[in-house]
Amino acid sequence: MGKSSKDKRDAYYRLAKEQGWRARSAYKLLQLDEEFNLFEGVTRVVDLCAAPGSWSQVLSRVLIKGEKFGRAAWEEKQQKQLSASLGGSDNASTPQLVEDLAPEAAGSGETLPRRDVKIVSIDLQPMTPLDGITTLRADITHPSTIPLLLKALDPDDFDPASTSASHPVDLVLSDGAPDVTGLHDLDIYIQSQLLFAALNLALCVLKPGGKFVAKIFRGKDVDLLYAQLKAVFERVQVAKPRSSRASSIEAFVVCEGFQPPKGFAASLDNPLGAGTRLPTAPSARSPKSAGQKRSITEDGVIEVEFESEDDDENIDARWIAPFLACGDLSAYDADASYHLPKDHQSLDPVQPPTAPPYKRALELRRTAGGGYGKTSSSAS
Ligand code: SAM
Repeated sequence: MGKSSKDKRDAYYRLAKEQGWRARSAYKLLQLDEEFNLFEGVTRVVDLCAAPGSWSQVLSRVLIKGEKFGRAAWEEKQQKQLSASLGGSDNASTPQLVEDLAPEAAGSGETLPRRDVKIVSIDLQPMTPLDGITTLRADITHPSTIPLLLKALDPDDFDPASTSASHPVDLVLSDGAPDVTGLHDLDIYIQSQLLFAALNLALCVLKPGGKFVAKIFRGKDVDLLYAQLKAVFERVQVAKPRSSRASSIEAFVVCEGFQPPKGFAASLDNPLGAGTRLPTAPSARSPKSAGQKRSITEDGVIEVEFESEDDDENIDARWIAPFLACGDLSAYDADASYHLPKDHQSLDPVQPPTAPPYKRALELRRTAGGGYGKTSSSAS
């Protein structure tokens, strides 16, 4: 597919180039934030599987530079117009959310960069640096990545013997995806391993109350995954941003209110603290469960304790997470083709891949001095 026809068939690909984002994925995070207000009160973030870096760009612009996008930017603009034209005519228009996701539509530029923000981004691929962001090249499924991450988060306060962050983070993002093979079951399996690795890292660094947002592929047993997540988060929802093609099995789990089980300690050997059993989501337990002990602490907090594991036998560990479409209806439809003006100039991507898997093949072809299919027999 040529660049121009891709522009036509993928509005978000075209917009990303026009608006300075390294990848169209930026819109997914912005639309998730529109729905869930992900960045409120957040100063420490880990962005897993971050290359080429459009999510990190969003983090940098919102958290460090204090810029606003989408509805927040529109509201700020309206506020300014209103105060500029005190008593003037009401020229408010409908929010053009997609267009307002442009960096140019961001805040006034009056805000100073924030120095109390810490963002660490990790990917297998090298990532072109971004202002104020620590980037690591590492495999999130490898145990050696945990100490690397902990050191990057707290360089002056790093304890090599510990598996948890000394200053925990507010938000862990993971947009990890394997190179898709097209074999659905295999792709879903590899994706679930990435998700498990991301969750494992999140459990080591999140603070109680923290959030975890990760890409999932919705396979047939995905509700078991939701139940696992529900065991350690107060709220688990599944979201499909408008910029994610409806035809793709991709969605995002948005987990809020990290609530580590009592006595939970992050561990690489026993990541979910589950032993050989899957912990059951607190909300999946019936309040009338037998063997339940209630007590009120000195601070007036009600604690509920389940006396024996056997009580869990009658409990259905499956749990259906609420599903939310996010992104305003005025946003582009990721599956639609759009007419472009005749004089449309297709732009180059903002950030060409740093180490694409086809790089070596291109080098070999160049040294051989050939083009596609130029073998001695085909050339004749
Ligand atoms: N969120 C990114 C952005 O906005 O630019 C896009 C992420 S891209 C869809 C998926 C990324 O997952 C790829 O860059 C890939 O290298 C990374 N990835 C896949 N497996 C990984 C692993 N085991 N460890 C670290 N990164 C991984």
